[in-house]
Amino acid sequence: MSIITMEELKSGMCRWPIGSIEEEGFHFCGEPSEPAAPYCNEHMIKAQAPTRKPKTS
Ligand SMILES: [Zn+2]
Repeated sequence: MSIITMEELKSGMCRWPIGSIEEEGFHFCGEPSEPAAPYCNEHMIKAQAPTRKPKTS
């Protein structure tokens, strides 16, 4: 099983965190990221989706 750690994360790779940073096995998505974006397409959608704090204004 290959996981992407902080050291292995490079620009152009999705930096979406997988798991909890406090847990062993925490790593990053590592998929090719969208141009000028820190996340891959899938995680860009997740990042933009209102999850816990929807904007009310
Ligand atoms: Zn991703």
